Amino acid sequence: MTDSLTSMAITRRRLLLAGSFAAVGTVCSPVFAQRKHYDVIIIGAGLAGLQAGCVLQKQGVDFLLLEGSQRVGGRVYTLDELPGRPEAGATQSGTKYHALNQVIGELGIGTENIRPGAPGMTLLVNDRLSALEDWPASAGNLLPEALKDTPPYGLLPKLLRNGRFLSRPLDWWQPENAGLDIPLHAYLADLGAGEEALRLVDANLNGESIRTLSALDLLRKLAVLQAAGAPMNISGGSQRLPEAMYAPISHAVLMGKQVTAIRQAQTSVELITGDADRFTCRLCLIAVPFSVLRHITMEATLSQAKQQAIREMGYTPVTHVLLRPERPFWRDDGFSPNMWTDTDLGRVFTQTDEQGEVIRLRTWIQGPAARRVDGMPDHEIGKLVVSLLERARPAAKSQLEVERVISWGKNPFAHGAFSHYLAGGVGQFSRDVNRPEGLLHFIGAHTEPSASGMEAAVKSGVRGAREVINRLS
Ligand SMILES: Cc1cc2nc3c(=O)[nH]c(=O)nc-3n(C[C@H](O)[C@H](O)[C@H](O)COP(=O)(O)OP(=O)(O)OC[C@H]3O[C@@H](n4cnc5c(N)ncnc54)[C@H](O)[C@@H]3O)c2cc1C
Repeated sequence: MTDSLTSMAITRRRLLLAGSFAAVGTVCSPVFAQRKHYDVIIIGAGLAGLQAGCVLQKQGVDFLLLEGSQRVGGRVYTLDELPGRPEAGATQSGTKYHALNQVIGELGIGTENIRPGAPGMTLLVNDRLSALEDWPASAGNLLPEALKDTPPYGLLPKLLRNGRFLSRPLDWWQPENAGLDIPLHAYLADLGAGEEALRLVDANLNGESIRTLSALDLLRKLAVLQAAGAPMNISGGSQRLPEAMYAPISHAVLMGKQVTAIRQAQTSVELITGDADRFTCRLCLIAVPFSVLRHITMEATLSQAKQQAIREMGYTPVTHVLLRPERPFWRDDGFSPNMWTDTDLGRVFTQTDEQGEVIRLRTWIQGPAARRVDGMPDHEIGKLVVSLLERARPAAKSQLEVERVISWGKNPFAHGAFSHYLAGGVGQFSRDVNRPEGLLHFIGAHTEPSASGMEAAVKSGVRGAREVINRLS
């Protein structure tokens, strides 16, 4: 460690001592909270910001982490207060998520196999209900003969089989793939997809629309998925991870501090929070998604490409309605409680208990359907979903109680669930997303081209911490 880092480490240790009587939780010790200047300030206590904080802490760097909400974890959010601890955010890790698994291992958190939901699948397409096995002959199946046997959620992989694959995520930057940075709609149509197939691919797309999503970004994500290994859950719920990451750095985290303005001067960065507090730092690690950053006042000279990325990166809204079934109504109509629909219900997943009994239904509404329902207050969203389900499945009448509505699109600390590139965006700014701009460094799942989700967030936290440590030394 260099001299300056060593002296920082000493300052930090004094600080730790001063803060050591603070309760672990959301409040920092008064001694610590009085300080307004730090070497590094991190904005956002999602996995990226927490991981950066953990690395900085180990290196003895003087830092502060500002979190806008009253909770750490961001888009990792286990609803611990509900039976069965359902996940509202990230659920699956992968056996080959190396960065994530290393942190999980170091913190002594376990992983476990994913508990299966109820068996079977019900399709609601063109207003007709059918069991998966009856789909080829369903009156709602308007697909051409060659695709009749393919369920709607199998269409995208099937259609893509005729096209190009990326063997590694970073191949999206190979010059020969640049021509794929076009709307997915145009790419699939070129591969021979007809209107009904395109409509069904669009219905529950991870993106806003096949007319705007970049085919190249989708192919990169499939390459990432291919390399993820077998899916796993974090034991006890995903929230156990950010909790454990927070514990050793809790003295350096201020909760309820929503950053509303970032001002970059020659040698320091000033941050202003919603409660009119001000902090300054030598270097700033921005760990909020671009969907949030575009709402923060930025007084900084940023490259054109970064400005475009912040403005234009797509974020898919996702809305969940958690429903408790009074009784297993699906035994009355004979259809599986799992559903894939082309309506505003989106998809319905089931959560089971240790005995395999269904304890909850969860709708997964995304894209334009989520935007439509997000226009309503939560209780209206709940009512709408129940009425749509009852209409499709009369056996469900008066059998469903709304437990919770979670809208990632409406959440002011997320403004969406997943980032994606719109057609043309990969070529225009993908290489600039994580490039530092003056004293500002950028981390978060959206900044890692070779990974996605929790793995990307953790990886970016390590990268960002290294960037600032190198500069400070
Ligand atoms: C429904 C859903 C399902 C998912 N499923 C999976 C999955 O199965 N597997 C997987 O790997 N990933 C999944 N993900 C994605 C994964 O959750 C994210 O990619 C990852 O958690 C992002 O971490 P992050 O730190 O980059 O951002 P975030 O988690 O968004 O963290 C940003 C933090 O910044 C805070 N913040 C925001 N604005 C401000 C502000 N102005 N001032 C201060 N703080 C602020 C937020 O409160 C938050 O704590 C899912 C996400 C969702 C929403």
